[in-house]
Amino acid sequence: MPVLVVGSIGLDTVKTPLAEHADLLGGSASYAAVSASFFSGVNLVGIVGEDFPQPHVDFFGSRNIDLCGLQIAPGKTFRWSGEYHTDLNTRTTRSIELNVFEHFTPTLPASYNNTQYVLLANIAPSLQLHVLDQMTQPRFIIADTMDLWINIAKDDLIALLKRVDMLILNDGEARQFTGENSLIKAGKLIRALGPKYVAIKKGEHGCLLFGENAFFTCGAYPLEDIHDPTGAGDTFAGGLAGYLASLNHDEVTFEDLRKAVVYGSVLASYNVEAFSLERMRTLTPQDIVRRYEIIKAISHFEVLP
Ligand code: AMP
Repeated sequence: MPVLVVGSIGLDTVKTPLAEHADLLGGSASYAAVSASFFSGVNLVGIVGEDFPQPHVDFFGSRNIDLCGLQIAPGKTFRWSGEYHTDLNTRTTRSIELNVFEHFTPTLPASYNNTQYVLLANIAPSLQLHVLDQMTQPRFIIADTMDLWINIAKDDLIALLKRVDMLILNDGEARQFTGENSLIKAGKLIRALGPKYVAIKKGEHGCLLFGENAFFTCGAYPLEDIHDPTGAGDTFAGGLAGYLASLNHDEVTFEDLRKAVVYGSVLASYNVEAFSLERMRTLTPQDIVRRYEIIKAISHFEVLP
C-alpha cells in the first residue's frame, strides 16, 4: 500500500556549531517521502523550480517514490536557511525564499485520489485541506504542522483537525497551540478537537502518543553525536506513515501506532547523523531493525519478585 506524501521540497542552507552546508536537498516532503519509502511505496506531491538538481529527482525515483505528482514549474525552487544553537535543540530561521512554492496548489494526479494512507507533511493547513478535498476515502490521514501555521492560520488548522486521524507536532507547538504547559493536558485537548490520535515529539526525549483511553511514551534512541537535526520530525512522520501502510490493516489500532512511533523514532535517529538526507542513502533495513530492537530493549521494564 502506498502513502501519499504532500509537503515542501526545497534547497536548504544549514549551519550547526560545527559546520555549514548550502543548497542541500530539504523540505518536509523530501524527508517524509524518503523515510516512508523504507516501508512502502510513496506517491509524492510537491513543487520544485527548474533549478532543482536532476540528481535529487533521480534519488527520489530510485526509492520506490512515484513522481507523477511532482510539479516542475518555471522559476526557482523553495529555499530555507537555518542556524542551530549550541545545544542543537533550538534554531533560528535565517531566511526563507518561497519562490515557486508561493503559488503551489497541490493537485493530485487521478491515480493518487484513492491512496489509502495520507501524510500531510508540513505546509499551510489550507493546502492540506485542499489535498483532502481531492481524495475519495482514505483509510488513515496523518497531518504534521509547525509554529508558523499555529500563529497565522489557526482557524484552518482547527478545521483540518476535524478531518484527520492523527496530528503530529512537537512539544513547543503543542503548548503554543493549546496554551497548556502540561503536555498531557495539551495532548488531550488536541484530541478533543478531532484527531483520534496525537503524537507529541520531544526531540531527544522521545515522543508521547495519545489515543482513546490509551497512552504510550517512546524514548528516543540514545545518540551521542547529532550532526544536523533538520527534518527529524518529517523523517519521524514518514517512517510512521510508511510502516502503517506496510501493515495495510483494515483499521489502524493503537498497537500498530505504538510500533509505528518506534519505527519513526528509529528513522529520525539515523537521519540526524548526517546533513540533509545523506544518511538515508546508506541506511539498510537491517540497520532499522537493529535500532528498533534496541529501543524495545531499553524501554522494557519488569518488576522482579
Ligand atoms: P523540521 O526540521 O522538521 O522543521 O523540517 C525542516 C524542513 O522544513 C527544511 O528542510 C525546510 O526546507 C522545510 N521548511 C522550513 N520552513 C517551511 C515552511 N514554512 N513550509 C514548509 N516547509 C518548510
